[in-house]
Amino acid sequence: MPIDPTLEYDDQNIFAKILRKEIPCRQVFEDEWALAFHDINPQAPEHVLAIPKGAYVSWDDFSTTATDAEIAGFVRAVGYVAREMGLVETGYRLLANIGIDSHQEVPHLHVHIFGGKPLGPMLVR
Ligand code: 5GP
Repeated sequence: MPIDPTLEYDDQNIFAKILRKEIPCRQVFEDEWALAFHDINPQAPEHVLAIPKGAYVSWDDFSTTATDAEIAGFVRAVGYVAREMGLVETGYRLLANIGIDSHQEVPHLHVHIFGGKPLGPMLVR
């Protein structure tokens, strides 16, 4: 079910539990600002999710309320992870779903990193 992005942050969401290490993930990166791990249901040969450490529902929430240090740390982490995945030369796609029309399912901001093959058109028409 897509989530309503205007909701308060729910600290029982699945990515909050992954951040607290209450449930496992296939981690690829962690620093002060971000955690990155393989998507449980990959939609490309390479499909990693990057999430900020802070409690932000969506890109809208993050971009309006996170500190400059959190934003810089997270954006740099996403770029670093894609680089470490070896995706810069071939290219890759970043995607963040925000709210109902996008079908965001998990109410903790996440950026999808897709790569490993030609990814086709941007959106299903
Ligand atoms: P959204 O539709 O919210 O942008 O994407 C949510 C993503 O989270 C989906 O691609 C889904 O496969 C992934 N996901 C959902 N639950 C889990 C989980 O428990 N572990 C991992 N690694 N990924 C998950």
